[in-house]
Amino acid sequence: MSLHVATPFLASHALSLSSGHSVWLKLEALQPSGSFKMRGVGHACEIWRDRGARRFVSSSGGNAGLAVAHAGRMLGLPVMVVVPESTPARALTLLRREGADVVVHGETWQEAHRHALDRVGDADAFIHPFDDPLLWHGHATLVDEMARTGVKPDIVVLAVGGGGLLCGVIEGLHRNGWHDVPVLAVETLGTASFHAALQEGHAVQLEGISGVATSLGAKRVCDQAVAWSREHAIESVLVSDRSALDACMRFLDDHRLLVEPACGAGLAPLYETMPVLDRYKTVAVVVCGGATCTVEQLQQQRARCDAPD
Ligand SMILES: *Cc1c(COP(=O)(O)O)cnc(C)c1O
Repeated sequence: MSLHVATPFLASHALSLSSGHSVWLKLEALQPSGSFKMRGVGHACEIWRDRGARRFVSSSGGNAGLAVAHAGRMLGLPVMVVVPESTPARALTLLRREGADVVVHGETWQEAHRHALDRVGDADAFIHPFDDPLLWHGHATLVDEMARTGVKPDIVVLAVGGGGLLCGVIEGLHRNGWHDVPVLAVETLGTASFHAALQEGHAVQLEGISGVATSLGAKRVCDQAVAWSREHAIESVLVSDRSALDACMRFLDDHRLLVEPACGAGLAPLYETMPVLDRYKTVAVVVCGGATCTVEQLQQQRARCDAPD
């Protein structure tokens, strides 16, 4: 028994009609913790439990922390999540609802993260949000499920933050013999750490992160994501916050599923019919999900895009 669920791989009639592609959705928004993070984090937590870990520690106030909290509750092990003071109240509520011990520490994520690492004891396992092979093995199961349906996409579209999802999906493509299926890596303009790494040929540290797609806000991608770009066909595009938010709202109408802006970014190339997809007929999109947003928040963020500063 795994901690994640097998999700539907659904043909989207609405998106296929509007984009002109044959669009298939891998609905990771339906995972118990609300995002694909459940796959990798669940796998890592089970391995650490088998190795004797008696507590899990995370420094993510987002979907990774929620997945760790959920895994701990299901495995009957305590979870400590250290988050910065800037963490939204809603995220704290969701973490506590999963039974996590939430420690608020420091002004920035870096401070919270350092504090979390300081408090990792001998019997604890620290669960990284994106840079860990255990995580990638777990994420790869989403491609195993796609392959079992027999629908082979011409390209897989996904959002990139720290690059864990990208590494997992490419690992999954390779272990299913789909070496020839390229990946379109989508980021927002304010979170373009993978785009910068591709241009430089190695991972670089961005000076800052901005915009609404907070789950994509890793200043530096993991090295493995850049390493894959030398072995696997990866295209990289950037979308605006406005496009990401519009995609969330349209997706909500089309499929009655609320996803956060990070996931809207991944949907935006289809809603915007971006030329980068012109050559591909069957397009699979990883609907990565996101549990920390509300309709009201999306509407406010969208209104702010239109407001003159
Ligand atoms: C974590 C996350 C991402 C980015 O995943 P990485 O593995 O960091 O690249 C995208 N969307 C959502 C909803 C996420 O939670």
